[in-house]
Amino acid sequence: MSLRDWFAKKKQKARLNADGVNRKLTDDELCSIWVQCYSCNATLPRKAMEHNQQVCMECEYHFRIGASDRIQQLFCQEDDTFIELNANLGPADPLTFTDTQPYRKRQVGARSKSDLNEAVVTGIAKLHRMQEPNDDAADTPPTIDEAESFALGIMDFDYLGGSMGSVVGEKLTCLAECALKYDLPLVIFSSSGGARMQEGTLSLMQMVKTGTVLARLHDAGLLYISVLTEPTFGGVTASFGTLGDVILAEKGARIGFAGRRVIEQTIRQKLPNDFQTAGYLMKYGQVDRVVHRHNLRHELLELIRLHRISSGKTPKAVSQGQLLDFEVNPSPFLLTPDAEPVPV
Ligand SMILES: [Zn+2]
Repeated sequence: MSLRDWFAKKKQKARLNADGVNRKLTDDELCSIWVQCYSCNATLPRKAMEHNQQVCMECEYHFRIGASDRIQQLFCQEDDTFIELNANLGPADPLTFTDTQPYRKRQVGARSKSDLNEAVVTGIAKLHRMQEPNDDAADTPPTIDEAESFALGIMDFDYLGGSMGSVVGEKLTCLAECALKYDLPLVIFSSSGGARMQEGTLSLMQMVKTGTVLARLHDAGLLYISVLTEPTFGGVTASFGTLGDVILAEKGARIGFAGRRVIEQTIRQKLPNDFQTAGYLMKYGQVDRVVHRHNLRHELLELIRLHRISSGKTPKAVSQGQLLDFEVNPSPFLLTPDAEPVPV
């Protein structure tokens, strides 16, 4: 092909693209339609994946999901409600920490990536159970049964790897204190790489802080369900992640303290292929139950109902105005994103 023909063909191709005829899709456009499974490499329609709660239709691999997807999946009935607590609370920079980038810059990036002000969303949830008709009235539609209220925290890995800093600890502690005051069960979905190194020892202090409030919850006879999701590691596993009265793990989730490679290098031994997976931890008793994402809502509601009946603890009614008592004021380590940084 002569150079002139080559240019003519290129021009024709550009014209076809502009007209939208025979246009080749860009990589971004393809990614918006299809998604590839990390486990079985199947190419799956994105819409169908959303409908299937981000679980692979071929191999049931559970894709990692953020807090907003989790809320959408859990709150699927029309009457379900979620009142968020401390939504505007964001992190300060108490150590004025800089690694390859200043911590402030990382916060801005994390905020735009996750659409959140911190790595955890907390609030008071109310989910309605559907009553299936009995055999005598099989053709009548299901009706809404009693609702369960509980305090809910959901971590998001997209905000700095779901790391636990001062704000994560504070938000979860406020949530547990709210549960204590109104006799609510507490459910926390963990997804974290561990403590937030940019906040140094302040982030490690959140382990004991959350552990202490959970001990008070336990003494009060209230239920705490910890749900470990892909991935849960470090300080979160070593604190509130594994302090649940019931510890559930989402199918296929990786859960541990140190990473697999670090352990292999330290002990100089090869670890089993399924090491640090939900199934492996259940086999050795660290997790009570491995739950498929499709069954998670039902399992949570059943556990809360069983505990409510057996303990006789019924949650007190709580209004939106009463929840304002659990809104945190800015401090040197915690501040709202729009507030001026408080000098340390
Ligand atoms: Zn798959």
